[in-house]
Amino acid sequence: MGGKDILKSVSDSSSDEFYTPFPGEYNIGKTKYIIVAGSVMSGVGKGIFASSLAKLLQYAGLKVSPIKIDGYLNQDAGTLNPFRHGEVFVLDDGMECDMDLGSYERFLDKDLCRENYLTAGIIFNRILKRERAGNYLGRDVQFIPHVTGEIKGILRKLAIKQKADVVLVEIGGTIGDFENAYVIEAMRQLIYEEGKDNVCFINLCYIIEPSSLGEQKSKPSQLGLERLRGLGIQPDFMICRAENQVSDSIREKISVYSNVSLKNVIGLPNTSTVYEAPLLIKELKVDEKVMKLLNLHRLFSRFKQRKQLLQWTEFVEQYKSTQKKINIAIAGKYTGLNDSYASILKALEHAATFNDARVNIKYIETTKIEDKEIDVEEAMRDVHGLIIPGGFGKRGAEGKIACVKFARENNLPFLGLCYGMQMAVIEFMRNVCGMMDANSTELEPDTGYPVIDILPEQKKIEGLGGNMRLGGQDVKIKEGTKAYRLYGQDAIRLRFRHRYEVNPKYIELLEKNGMVFSGKAPKYNIMQILEIPNKRFFMATQAHPEFNSRPLKPEPMFDGFIKSILK
Ligand code: GLN
Repeated sequence: MGGKDILKSVSDSSSDEFYTPFPGEYNIGKTKYIIVAGSVMSGVGKGIFASSLAKLLQYAGLKVSPIKIDGYLNQDAGTLNPFRHGEVFVLDDGMECDMDLGSYERFLDKDLCRENYLTAGIIFNRILKRERAGNYLGRDVQFIPHVTGEIKGILRKLAIKQKADVVLVEIGGTIGDFENAYVIEAMRQLIYEEGKDNVCFINLCYIIEPSSLGEQKSKPSQLGLERLRGLGIQPDFMICRAENQVSDSIREKISVYSNVSLKNVIGLPNTSTVYEAPLLIKELKVDEKVMKLLNLHRLFSRFKQRKQLLQWTEFVEQYKSTQKKINIAIAGKYTGLNDSYASILKALEHAATFNDARVNIKYIETTKIEDKEIDVEEAMRDVHGLIIPGGFGKRGAEGKIACVKFARENNLPFLGLCYGMQMAVIEFMRNVCGMMDANSTELEPDTGYPVIDILPEQKKIEGLGGNMRLGGQDVKIKEGTKAYRLYGQDAIRLRFRHRYEVNPKYIELLEKNGMVFSGKAPKYNIMQILEIPNKRFFMATQAHPEFNSRPLKPEPMFDGFIKSILK
């Protein structure tokens, strides 16, 4: 007995009373679920573990749909400060989400969509809207069954829509958090309703090793387990993350304490790069054990997997063995935190590995240039290429403009991303076209020369959430340009997240002075890529090409940038 039958035996009007939405076309057992939840602490690589496992299943021929559930009340990540929360990752359909979705896209080499991301804000917004519409038919709306039911319904619809063999659920935060308690409860119900053979629960714990003791300790993991069991969940696997190899005695302790057989208590030490994680997880046979538990033999092809893993392994070998180092400066204002520029760092890593080089990042805090704490020449010493990344607001902008000027005048390879393109246009307008007062209305609303101005459709919008020009847009590439040589075609698609653009009024002047707009929006007068010919590499884009880079498929603009440095 499983699923709908279980419910029938509990209550006559089961689906109403328990609010367990099984969408019409849903077949229990057709899609399997893997749930990954962490205990002890966050930041131990839950996302990387989950994407690696998803990758291995995908390589074996399965269709995997990941979904990340975050506990915050924001409806997307658009209003989150990258300094506190890491970068905002933008999907092709315009969803602004947690940077973990970036890991899934890069690992799976697959464009995800808004259904692959869920926050408490989205869940509650849907429920509250439905309540206002009177759709709960006079009932009091409760965490159980309504909120938990909503979550299960969302997962099942994802399974149907993406025709998934496996839905992989990553639960944000750690077990015991106030924020995700009802999500864990929804997972408990899911296991009950779908049946044991159809859901695999993986608890990622962390084995500490205090240097003062010099030995591993399992106590925090045990406490995490206690919490998990208190919530009614018996894990199928314990993945013990640790800095070093996990000792057998620790695994035994965890096994006895968790009721998980020793073979399914798996130590997962740090790897030298995240790209190695799928290989180690394969070596430990986690994918095969999960497959066995979920009875996925029919779909799982070891042969396919082995073949596809070869390329990945080559990439890892190449990444680890390259000797050539290049220094790239990122001039921004979130330079205190690597996570704020995660996709840029990844895109550089992919392109550099492809070209047999290793990138060393030098952050330039542009507010310091503005405040004359350092000068540009000093900041650029030993730098082989400059990136001005995306950004918002006035702080640090003049420092960025000074960096672009240095790059242009010294023929230093330059890549501007979104805000970086806007800075390049202002610099060119001032120092090449001679309009010293040129500025962006984002920085100086009353500027007499608004060379960067707000997009017409943005003028009507109020509020700051989810209202930018967002997501994938077509870009028409001009023949005979560097962009055309890099992309090898005249129509591409890039992802955007901006409110401001090059003011069409000034395009003619900019072009007359030598700036080439090599990528435009097909239907609107929006400039999307610019370049200055006869430079080693001077290119900027209103888009975020970094979101499209994949380990085995470097993004062409990044590839061109790295190649120009190595030449
Ligand atoms: N602040 C600029 C704009 O809104 C750039 C945005 C960005 O870099 N993502 O257009």
